[in-house]
Amino acid sequence: MTVRTAQLATLARIRDRRLTPGPAQTANPIDPWRLVSRRFSTSRVAEEETLFAVANGYMGLRGTHDEGLPSNDPALFLNGFHETWPIPYGEAAFGFATTGQTIVSAPDGSVIRLYVDEEPLVLTDSKVLSYERVLDMRTGILERSVTFRTARGAAVALRSRRLASLHWRHLAAISYEVTLLEGPADLAIASEIVTHLPQPKGGDDPRVGVRMDESALAPVDQFADGTRVLLGLRTRSSAIPLACGMDHIMDTELRYGVESSVAADEGRVVFYLDAEPGVPARMTKLLGYHHDARAANGDLFRRVHRTLERAHSDGFDRIAEVQRERLEAYWSQSDIEIDEPGDVQQAVRYALFQVRQASARVEGHGIGAKGLTGRGYEGQYFWDTEIYVLPVLTYTQPHVARRLLHFRYEMLDAARRRAQQLGHRGALFPWRTISGEEASAYYAAGTAQYHINAAISYAVRQFVRVTGDDEFLAREGVEILVETARFWADLGFFSARRDGQFCIQGVTGPDEYSAVVDNNAYTNLMARENLAAAAEGLQRLESSDPQAYELLVERLKIEPHEPQEWCRAAERMFIPYDERGVLLQDEHFLNRKPWDFENTPADHYPLLLHYHPLNIYRHQVIKQTDVVLATFLAGDRFSLEEKRRVFEYYDPLTTGDSSLSSCVQSVMAAEVGDLQAAYDYFLLSAGVDLANLSGNVGDGVHVASCGGVWMALVHGFAGLRDVNGHELRFTPRLPPDWDSMRFRLIVRGSRLEIEMRPEVTSFRLLQGEPLSLICDGQSFEVSVDEAVTVPVALAAH
Ligand code: BGC
Repeated sequence: MTVRTAQLATLARIRDRRLTPGPAQTANPIDPWRLVSRRFSTSRVAEEETLFAVANGYMGLRGTHDEGLPSNDPALFLNGFHETWPIPYGEAAFGFATTGQTIVSAPDGSVIRLYVDEEPLVLTDSKVLSYERVLDMRTGILERSVTFRTARGAAVALRSRRLASLHWRHLAAISYEVTLLEGPADLAIASEIVTHLPQPKGGDDPRVGVRMDESALAPVDQFADGTRVLLGLRTRSSAIPLACGMDHIMDTELRYGVESSVAADEGRVVFYLDAEPGVPARMTKLLGYHHDARAANGDLFRRVHRTLERAHSDGFDRIAEVQRERLEAYWSQSDIEIDEPGDVQQAVRYALFQVRQASARVEGHGIGAKGLTGRGYEGQYFWDTEIYVLPVLTYTQPHVARRLLHFRYEMLDAARRRAQQLGHRGALFPWRTISGEEASAYYAAGTAQYHINAAISYAVRQFVRVTGDDEFLAREGVEILVETARFWADLGFFSARRDGQFCIQGVTGPDEYSAVVDNNAYTNLMARENLAAAAEGLQRLESSDPQAYELLVERLKIEPHEPQEWCRAAERMFIPYDERGVLLQDEHFLNRKPWDFENTPADHYPLLLHYHPLNIYRHQVIKQTDVVLATFLAGDRFSLEEKRRVFEYYDPLTTGDSSLSSCVQSVMAAEVGDLQAAYDYFLLSAGVDLANLSGNVGDGVHVASCGGVWMALVHGFAGLRDVNGHELRFTPRLPPDWDSMRFRLIVRGSRLEIEMRPEVTSFRLLQGEPLSLICDGQSFEVSVDEAVTVPVALAAH
């Protein structure tokens, strides 16, 4: 029995048109643009707090109910806003990461409490007459409509809308509308900005990590005047200053009064209304957040005032209109339209929407494994961004991709220090981080994942190849390539026992179920590309801009023999094979005992929650694609036959215990011609969040898997490859019951549209210079004047 057949129950569930969970379709109707929940329930509070989060890459508001209750982990996250703490080790050793980094919630301004004749509205205590929550992916607004009857019998209609502005990154806005349905009543709308009480710690699940309580925030300053309240705070240990605040606009024909108050770490603005039936009270709540490690609190205060003032003069409708425009622009470039009988379209859009929410206004920061939707993995950045999220951004939102690569460039000094600390030349990027320093406490599945260096340099190369942005290469890219190549050259050695081949010992590859191994094939293959690219990048710079080249050589003290050494290491890189020609995950992989999949109960997955790491390490069992991923990323180094052999050997051993796996399995299954497996794995990645397949969506969405959905569709079903030279290659294969799939790419500034149908694939250039393409071996040029249609008979495998 393979692992995939063990996942059949899950597949059956999501194949049955139920990617979106919920007891009945009526409770969660499928809509291609909207995520809809029509049943208020307390059983999915954690899940829905994540699924209905709104974020813009700078700030994220969990999808808590407006009243703040019921809640699981209410929070408002700001990218990069984190607390530090000394990592306690029972047995420390030299070079271990010393400082933990954990995202903390800023004071949460999403809370609006409603009192009807002094009785508070709490959904769990009131009689809910109707309920609907909708996250609209076209407008970028979360809307909740509720009618309810209070314990004393008053009937009230409530409609609230909230957004994290994609245009004004420091701004969130809420529109809150209350209407009495029967009889007069006294209403109080208490709008709050609150510091939440500490949440319980994460327990044994390493995917949760340490949870910092909000006492991490020290109050610095407060302000209250009329409808505006501001708070100034600072994280206690990392000393990051923050200013945040709220302002309000009341629009109503009812008589009302207002009061505001502020304390050390919370503020309130309360509207008291003499309400009449049928006369609405419309409150707009504006929220501003600014944090900046280099700024003074006073300056941040002023920035919050400015954010609120501008938003005040715009009003909610204008802010919402701009939000819609921003999303229209996003979808016009990044949407994938699928015509198929199931609910795949919604899941695909949801994944792409999450990519947007995680990255849109990320300037100066990275993308956490959960974006800004939850505390999982402590809000830290991993290789997820470069391998899983940057492909969709590089191809459809290149300006965002460039910012993220620039962020890595800014991290180079810290990476140089880390390499030096570990006794190596060059730079070593941290496996997990927020600040740029290594935060991974378990080195075997942390620092030993040196392959993050190769992931970053892979993303640099892909970005330059696809965008043609040579300026980025010259200014920042080459430096990243050089410093990472230096690291590899120093980490490995030419082994006399291996006939002078270049070996890299003691590393952990992407598969965390094998740790600290020798010659992990993925690492060696990716290091080889990294080494060769550094030498080539320098050469390119020398011929295109000799002056910049000279300056770089001088600044980085590049010795003339270094590029030669990198090339020699690349040429002589040892790639482990067994005697039958099977590419080995690492030198000793086949020496390990086969895992007893047959007798592993379904509820013992993920294995990491049920077996000691040593038990796992001594078996042939894989958490996530490793060699298979290498045959995708370094695909032009392998024949199709070899890729098939690798897939067939390793796929049955792969548990998919990491959400980073199924999308890559889908891509490679498509390439080797197993379309059914490609489809199954695509569904598994598309359902990770909506169907809560990993069981931990309450801790945040799986952003890598969201990017992976794009990969499965574009690299998998459309078969896009850019590894070799300048031309893009396609090998389109539409899943059997799909009628069409349409998507767009930006390649060297030109906008290309691809439409796959069962019989033909059409390529249309929407804008820009002609592009040379290859579709299933057939080369052609596509220009704005003429679309090209390739019959699928030719494109078939
Ligand atoms: C995976 C890593 C990934 C991390 C964050 C782990 O479970 O094994 O590859 O970077 O999650 O998503």
